[in-house]
Amino acid sequence: MKIDVLTLFPEMFEGVFGASILGKARDKGIVALEAVNFREYANNKHNTVDDYPYGGGGGMVLKPDPVFAAVEALQVDEAVRPRVILMCPQGASFTQRKAEELAKEQHLVFICGHYEGYDERIREHLVTDELSIGDYVLTGGEIPAMAVIDSIVRLLPGVLGNETSAVTDSYSTGLLEHPHYTRPAEFRGWTVPDVLISGHHANIEVWRREQSLLRTLKRRPDLLEQAELSGKERKWIAEQAKRFEGPAEG
Ligand code: SAM
Repeated sequence: MKIDVLTLFPEMFEGVFGASILGKARDKGIVALEAVNFREYANNKHNTVDDYPYGGGGGMVLKPDPVFAAVEALQVDEAVRPRVILMCPQGASFTQRKAEELAKEQHLVFICGHYEGYDERIREHLVTDELSIGDYVLTGGEIPAMAVIDSIVRLLPGVLGNETSAVTDSYSTGLLEHPHYTRPAEFRGWTVPDVLISGHHANIEVWRREQSLLRTLKRRPDLLEQAELSGKERKWIAEQAKRFEGPAEG
């Protein structure tokens, strides 16, 4: 996969692209990560990339020409149409499903905004997707782009040591993941559930599935509606839900 990020602050990506799992994925040649400063494509004397908004009002607006020029200058494989993704608090909410969808692409281009926003023609005529990482506003699109890129790259084959670990992650299964424990079996008097040290793999799987269902019920009951559950599981979870609700008051 090839990922290009258009930003005014390419230095922000040096640490993130070079460290930990992203760094290793890059070293292994699984992903090519590039941060491009689109200021280099400003076609004016002072390399200005923003201007005052037509109609007045506060804040500066990113001009369309440097952003279009930077995207058009990227090396693109003839056979591959890159997805051009605008980081934007007004975009579609980024989810694990979206990460899985984008992990199948060969070339992704991220555009990181700054200031008040972008000229609307970037949105209308250049991008294929608009993504938001949540209902809050950051100063720029760099941190959102890093979060999205990290979640996509870890899904690429060969990136995580254990190929199954991403499959059982929260949201991948449609549920929240079960709790984890490691050594010591007793810490400050708090013990690990017996089943996990029993060595009985079938029972461990049953416990993990139940914990995953319970955790989702308590923390994100909205996910249960869409999750793939057997009839038996739906019945079990309905019983658990009643237990949590307790007897009706009054
Ligand atoms: N005036 C814009 C609005 O109200 O929608 C907000 C602009 S914000 C200060 C500057 C840039 O940060 C945006 O263009 C976008 O690239 C990025 N950004 C801020 N919050 C974001 C979010 N929740 N998700 C994705 N990108 C975000």
